[in-house]
Amino acid sequence: MCQATRHILWTPAEARVREQNRGAGLALRVGSGQATYHRYDPARKQHLINYGARMIAAKQQPETAQGWLSTREIRGRGYFGGEVSVLNLLSHTCCHEFAHLLQYSAGQRHYGSVHNRHFYSALDGLYSSGAAIATRQYLEETAGKTGVELSSTPFEFPNPVRALQQWQIGDAVCFGEGRHEKRGQVVRVNRKTCTVAVTLNARGLRYRVPVSLLRSPD
Ligand SMILES: [Zn+2]
Repeated sequence: MCQATRHILWTPAEARVREQNRGAGLALRVGSGQATYHRYDPARKQHLINYGARMIAAKQQPETAQGWLSTREIRGRGYFGGEVSVLNLLSHTCCHEFAHLLQYSAGQRHYGSVHNRHFYSALDGLYSSGAAIATRQYLEETAGKTGVELSSTPFEFPNPVRALQQWQIGDAVCFGEGRHEKRGQVVRVNRKTCTVAVTLNARGLRYRVPVSLLRSPD
């Protein structure tokens, strides 16, 4: 996923990103947890995209994949024909994080408004330009060469929707939609809900959020 992001997504966009921000670089890494994000470090002029190993594991089965925003985006916005599979989820995740990089470069990432229309216009652009399908092809070919199975068989989701994603204390989570999206940290895991600490305008708030509404802030 790191190589796909660099070779397929970053290489053609690099010149444009550097026009907006001279000297900006990109670092890619795999983290051990669930957290999957794009961040910009102004001191080092470096974009960082982190792919969480537990995120990759969670996207291998429908039960654990369905809590993720990637699943909802593929189904809701019809990316890859609306088909959710391991291959499509991981390809989409590369595009999702890279769209944050493009959004940030364009100065359109704002506190409390992360998945805004600028973000989705950047993400849609990656699909309409063919970059998303190229990412998918790259992942499929590279996985094939290294003996990793990346299934393209579409998931069938259990009905009714159950959320089996396992949250742990300290996990970064988000909930709510669009302008109302809130981000915080799990401070307590209850039977059907998690208690989430959210810092808003320097005030600490706690919410009890049904597990089905929680997702990782990818
Ligand atoms: Zn995101």
